Amino acid sequence: MSKTSLPATRRTILIGAATAATLPLIAAAGAAHAAGTMPKTNVKYQETPKGPQQCSKCNYYLAGKGPGGTNVCKIIAGPISPTGWCTMFAPKPA
Ligand code: SF4
Repeated sequence: MSKTSLPATRRTILIGAATAATLPLIAAAGAAHAAGTMPKTNVKYQETPKGPQQCSKCNYYLAGKGPGGTNVCKIIAGPISPTGWCTMFAPKPA
């Protein structure tokens, strides 16, 4: 190993360590922004659609990722059904 490569290697290790330490914080922040916190009862959430309106057609709906992924809402707390509905329903833009 040459003298010139040592600082680069140390720098690479430090950058890697800083990145690894930061990733869980970024992931936690992303999760906090993804799902809402309002209790379901505040918005009269129900597991069934209201006419043509349902969560999967709502602008606040976030489909779960992968098979069995949990569907969430940007407004209310907890898992929701794609066929659910609440008073905050807002249709997705066409
Ligand atoms: S209908 Fe209500 S619970 Fe469903 S995604 Fe829209 S805001 Fe969230």
